[in-house]
Amino acid sequence: MKRFFAPLSRVAEWEPPIPRQHLYAIMMLAGFTVAFATVMPSPRDLLVNNPIKVNPANLSNEATIPADLAADTEFLTIPDHELVGNEASPVDGLDGEDDAAEPQWVDYVVKSDDNLSVIFNTLNLPAKSLHKLMEVDIQNSLIRLQPGQKLSLMVDEHNGLIQLAIPQENSRRVLFERKGDAFTSRIEVWNDEEYKPLDAGRPAEVTAAEEKAQQKDKSKTSDAQLQQKSQTASAKPDADKETRPAARPTRVRKGTISGPFVISARNAGLTNTQIHRVARLFQGRIDFRRDLKKGDTFKVLFDKPHSKDAQVVAVVFNVNGRRLTAYRNLDGKFYDEKASSFSSGTFMRFPIPSQRKVSSSFSPSRRNPVTGRVQPHNGTDFSVPVGTPILATGDGIIVKAASHRDAGRYVIIRHDGKYSTTYMHMSKLLVKPGQKIKQGQKIGLSGNTGRSTGPHLHYEFRIGNRPVDAMRVDLPMNEGMGGKARRQFLAKVREYKRQLDQGS
Ligand SMILES: [Zn+2]
Repeated sequence: MKRFFAPLSRVAEWEPPIPRQHLYAIMMLAGFTVAFATVMPSPRDLLVNNPIKVNPANLSNEATIPADLAADTEFLTIPDHELVGNEASPVDGLDGEDDAAEPQWVDYVVKSDDNLSVIFNTLNLPAKSLHKLMEVDIQNSLIRLQPGQKLSLMVDEHNGLIQLAIPQENSRRVLFERKGDAFTSRIEVWNDEEYKPLDAGRPAEVTAAEEKAQQKDKSKTSDAQLQQKSQTASAKPDADKETRPAARPTRVRKGTISGPFVISARNAGLTNTQIHRVARLFQGRIDFRRDLKKGDTFKVLFDKPHSKDAQVVAVVFNVNGRRLTAYRNLDGKFYDEKASSFSSGTFMRFPIPSQRKVSSSFSPSRRNPVTGRVQPHNGTDFSVPVGTPILATGDGIIVKAASHRDAGRYVIIRHDGKYSTTYMHMSKLLVKPGQKIKQGQKIGLSGNTGRSTGPHLHYEFRIGNRPVDAMRVDLPMNEGMGGKARRQFLAKVREYKRQLDQGS
């Protein structure tokens, strides 16, 4: 504070050449002029980007919000459907309901300054689940988190936690699983290929019938989970099927593009859920609205004879002579045929070149001090001067480059698999929807458009459709597989390829 006041006292001692009151008046006038010029967009901007619509309802609504609050972007939450619109689904012709129904796996590496509530905040998970987890944490694994430990979390479409796995010493892990309104926990042992329940760690009240019901639930939730088969009779035959050389043409579905992908895929016999699965696997690599042309082909391999609940294990696209593939590994994740997770799967932490001043951080449960309502801040705000280059943090496809009353000029990029990023309040957009972009590429210039108090960039990072803390979350790394895991995977790919060919 002293350092701040020192120059002020010097100003006070200084004798101006004109009366002091005049000087103040001049300074205030100059200040108002600058403020006015800064806040007001040019008339041309106003007309081109915000055509004036007179809507009495809107007007009265605006009037009730205090001016300082209305302009505060920190409390700005724009409904997804306004920003993303019909681009929510990567393919046309499917509703969003189906799309969101798929649970997401999220990995999180514990940092030295972490605790569980920080982790839950980072990943935008409800604190309520945390309390319920603590209740069944008989191994104290939650309060003994070690930096570097890799947590695996499975999250449903409503932001609810389904599973949490915490690795322990000696190839063990603690697995928390949601059961109705509560969680159960147990210890499992890693036997090189998959986790198997360890009897000693199983809660006594879990009966065989409940166990069975759980298995049933599991198979419903996701194909990733199928990989974690316990040693139950129902799961076994499935595992055998995977290793047996397949002579079942029904496991393969083939299609040729003859219109929208949805139609071609339905013609090939895929269900809506399966179409979504495929579309998500190739997000960021194929623009399903623009890239696919008549005559392009695709093949999909399922884990069992094709039916409604068959899971996708391999997909091959032939787009304009280019071959694009995705194969499922034991861990439930998909990789290309060279065992690298999709080649463009990495992210930069910051969407701006140099200055990294965070003016408002991610806060999913922030409460507005005035209204008392929870108004989450779904992104990170960087205070940057107007005109600062905004960079795409990862490779992907521009799904939106548009203007919105609150978001200003904004861009949404869809990246590989389940990730997307959003950039708001820009002064100039340098990209168009459908455009493919590379990591680090300039997508626009920062600004102060939309509902914003000062020049800044609002940046969001989403997993699935769930905003998470872009500054803390573990960004996907291009971690190729190594050693034994890689050899096992490549053997599996050869088998998948054979099965795909046999199915023709
Ligand atoms: Zn913001």
